[in-house]
Amino acid sequence: MTAQTGLHVVVIGSGAVGTVSAIECLRAGHRVTVVDPGSPGGEQASSYGNAGWLSSHSVIPPAEPGMWKRVPSFLLDPLGPLSIRWAYLPKVMPWLTRFLLAASTTPRIERTARALRTLLVDAPKLHATLAEEAGVPQLVERRGVLHVYPDRAAFEREARSWEIRRRVGVTWLELSADELRQREPTLHRRYTFGLVVEEAGHCRDPGGYVAALSDLAQARGAARIATRATGFRLERGRLAAVTTEQGEIPCDRAVVAAGARSKPLAASLGDPLPLESERGYHVMVTGAEAGPRTPVMASDAKMIVNFMNGGLRAAGQVEFAGLAAAPNWKRAEILRDHLISMFPELPNPIPADRLKVWLGHRPSMPDGRPCIGTARKTTDVVYAFGHGHVGLVGSARTGRLVAQLVGGATPEIPLAPFDPRRFL
Ligand SMILES: Cc1cc2nc3c(=O)[nH]c(=O)nc-3n(C[C@H](O)[C@H](O)[C@H](O)COP(=O)(O)OP(=O)(O)OC[C@H]3O[C@@H](n4cnc5c(N)ncnc54)[C@H](O)[C@@H]3O)c2cc1C
Repeated sequence: MTAQTGLHVVVIGSGAVGTVSAIECLRAGHRVTVVDPGSPGGEQASSYGNAGWLSSHSVIPPAEPGMWKRVPSFLLDPLGPLSIRWAYLPKVMPWLTRFLLAASTTPRIERTARALRTLLVDAPKLHATLAEEAGVPQLVERRGVLHVYPDRAAFEREARSWEIRRRVGVTWLELSADELRQREPTLHRRYTFGLVVEEAGHCRDPGGYVAALSDLAQARGAARIATRATGFRLERGRLAAVTTEQGEIPCDRAVVAAGARSKPLAASLGDPLPLESERGYHVMVTGAEAGPRTPVMASDAKMIVNFMNGGLRAAGQVEFAGLAAAPNWKRAEILRDHLISMFPELPNPIPADRLKVWLGHRPSMPDGRPCIGTARKTTDVVYAFGHGHVGLVGSARTGRLVAQLVGGATPEIPLAPFDPRRFL
């Protein structure tokens, strides 16, 4: 098929995925309008407050074999690293069942890992190029990331995941207690084993990065309309317009990249896709006295810690409570307490005026793989949502794939593992 150019594409959502999709559609010669009631990469977007990891090795889905046995503790310990609010249990149960089943065996996990690897493999490089184009090269660093464990035995308890990573081509360096100490002098000495994944990178300000990418898109001709998309108008099976709270926008193609809020848009086209919010939190400390030289994931706290431009950020936690429930800021306090315990040179307590907290919604599919493909009713609507824990890192290739789907070109990686129809 010959790739088409010169179409009018409406991109719904200006988080990382929508914004990179807009840039790639412009690059392919299309006219682009981006709609979002919020600002690009603003606090409403998951892309704003994430941990900033550009981790091409993040290929393991969050669930694991046998995890179903821990569901009671997810309900009973509301402050554990993964929790489910009681009131939300009936609603999340069907999704949760699929989530647990999708990772119930090693071959299932490996299938997802192989697919995610194709999406993420050179993401740090792709992001470095995008950041360069947007005039913010300093926001993307490629210095590797560090995973730390209390001891080798703790690492070996995660051996299955690392073995799958090895099989899909991830390599790493192991650090002894001494090497870890030299590399991270302010890290608590209870961590005696580390791994460095050198291929990974990180972003020093995900919200600022997305805002800069949005400026780039606008400088290249994208229009931006501050409104909420409500659905689509089809005529004889073809897309005629995206409907919004401010009226219709006539167009040839649409891209649904509304993150965790994409579900009703897909449902309006007859695609009831199982998208759930995996709520996560961050805490930021300004003027931090200590912290990691390399972005670090603590295996015991299940938390990522990085220096960002605005301060030291600790991000993590998974909470199932839906899009509407109020934040439980105790979860951010847990992150703060873990942070102090990881870096004992931080003041305890940290003065409140040096702390900032945030709640975000990871847009998650039960199998840990995003939906990248077209709607059943019309191939004029492209879905690009559901990136869960890897939406920042995964946005670079997703944007390219979106432009390929929009223009009818052959996608650069096989899209079967990401096909929305796998759930329908
Ligand atoms: C605590 C935490 C840590 C994380 N750490 C990492 C990490 O280190 N690395 C990584 O790769 N990922 C990480 N993630 C995941 C990552 O943040 C998300 O996967 C990613 O940001 C999703 O991007 P998105 O563009 O799909 O959605 P979003 O960034 O949420 O953007 C969606 C946009 O759509 C808009 N929107 C919603 N509804 C509509 C509508 N109807 N019409 C128009 N616009 C609409 C919203 O206003 C929003 O701006 C983390 C997430 C959390 C919560």
